[in-house]
Amino acid sequence: MATVTPVAGIPARSAVPSTTDPVTPIWHPSPNFGERRDGLKPSLVVIHYTAMHSAQAALDRLCDPEAEVSAHYLIGSDGNVWQMVREKDRAWHAGAGEWRGRTDINSRSIGIELDNSGQVPFSEPQMAALENLLSDIQGRLGIHPWNVIGHSDMAPQRKLDPGPKFDWDRLTRRRLGVGPVVLKGISLDEMPPDEKHFAFIAMRAGYPEARTEDLLKAFRNRFSPTRRGPLSKKDMGDIERLAGLMERLDGIRAEV
Ligand SMILES: [Zn+2]
Repeated sequence: MATVTPVAGIPARSAVPSTTDPVTPIWHPSPNFGERRDGLKPSLVVIHYTAMHSAQAALDRLCDPEAEVSAHYLIGSDGNVWQMVREKDRAWHAGAGEWRGRTDINSRSIGIELDNSGQVPFSEPQMAALENLLSDIQGRLGIHPWNVIGHSDMAPQRKLDPGPKFDWDRLTRRRLGVGPVVLKGISLDEMPPDEKHFAFIAMRAGYPEARTEDLLKAFRNRFSPTRRGPLSKKDMGDIERLAGLMERLDGIRAEV
């Protein structure tokens, strides 16, 4: 499985494994990439699920020139890690969207696809491999845990991944990401539910302009995955806490 023959038609400059990426993934080059625009360097990691029936099916699609999609990495449910695009290059995984007021997320990010349908928990070997990969990427590129986001965070109107089954708190405990636990223990005056106000605070927290129902879904999937029902006082309090934490970080350690 580790032996990979360059695929015909792959541009020569992508048909060699990167020598600067210390985790040794299986190199499986995709033709779907370009140069990062405006000299941008990766300052975000975007987590996805593939919603396909196997890692092989996802690999095939992410390397199909007609699909025009890719990611830097794919992690199988068995913990295998494939790399399809060099980190210095711009993979095509994020699409239209925005995080903390910044667009062209593809030029600013590393994209990691997880072989998962979105309906079942992410497997232990897969999460362990993700932790290793994130630790490696963040160490080398200096990416702050707050800048590890889900696809749905930057595109709440279009995307649901990595969804409510993804264990953000597991990443939080390793200082590799940010999940619900960061909002615990911060007391705040209660705010009545107000859709416009929720959307306004969500933008302060980093989310793009979007319908409140989509923002609420994206926010809950990550920070309160079991909460149901209409916008509540708890959601108002939690989004305000998140915005407050983000603003404290803004311009200090978590610049995108
Ligand atoms: Zn995605």
